[in-house]
Amino acid sequence: MCIFCKIINKEIPASIIYEDEDVCAILDVAQVTEGHTLVMPKDHFESILDCPPVLLSKIISVTQMLSKDIVSKLNAKGVNVLTNAKEAAGQSVMHFHIHIIPRYTEDDGLILKFRGNPTPDVAKIEKILKK
Ligand SMILES: [Zn+2]
Repeated sequence: MCIFCKIINKEIPASIIYEDEDVCAILDVAQVTEGHTLVMPKDHFESILDCPPVLLSKIISVTQMLSKDIVSKLNAKGVNVLTNAKEAAGQSVMHFHIHIIPRYTEDDGLILKFRGNPTPDVAKIEKILKK
């Protein structure tokens, strides 16, 4: 059984901040920023790629509700909501979870950089579009 399933089954203690029949949310032990939260389905799915759409809708609704609450209660200036799917994307626990990372300043613990091409390559974009 994976570590998140054990937390959901209350076999391992965690700071659970929300729970209903399908969804569970805990404070991440790493606390990248203050209030860093993980929202996950109670059933084990590996990532967003194999989570059933109806359940995913419920998880994202809970994520929105908690994001609003966390931003307001912790006086955050903003929030990043993200999920990593598979190792190549940085997923470390193979139980689907969405990160809520409240933001306070630009150098508050999360480094998120989009290294895009400043000059759009139209031919390349058309090739990708065809795929
Ligand atoms: Zn699991």
